[in-house]
Amino acid sequence: MNRAVCARCGASRAEFREVCSACGYRAEGEGVLVAWLLSSAHFDEKQLDAAAERIKKGEPLRPTDAMFDRARKALGEDLSTDQGLSTAQRVGLLVLSLLVTPLPAWLVAVWWWRARPRAAMQALALAVPSSAAFVAFWLWVVLG
Ligand SMILES: [Zn+2]
Repeated sequence: MNRAVCARCGASRAEFREVCSACGYRAEGEGVLVAWLLSSAHFDEKQLDAAAERIKKGEPLRPTDAMFDRARKALGEDLSTDQGLSTAQRVGLLVLSLLVTPLPAWLVAVWWWRARPRAAMQALALAVPSSAAFVAFWLWVVLG
């Protein structure tokens, strides 16, 4: 039987994506990963009971990076399923990188390294050459 423990109040519900009927909490973003970790897909009954107990006592949950990785894999956000950046996003990032600063491409790459690996790699593929072009351009401007 499916069971998921609410990360906010410790009540049980059947599906980890459902709204908690006890407190109305709905997991979003990283919270969905935590919600999955607190479900029967990841924990057995005993572990779920223990987690619910901790949450009810107000003890903080501190999932490790490895646990987050496992949740991401289970929820399908890895290289094979991440659709990456759209063409418009890539063109926008490239134009921005060349005309203003390559920093956003680097930020995207770092920011999405775990959650959106394909998008992050695409951003990196833009960031590296546009940084080189950017530096070369400014050296040319400064050094004349
Ligand atoms: Zn709740």
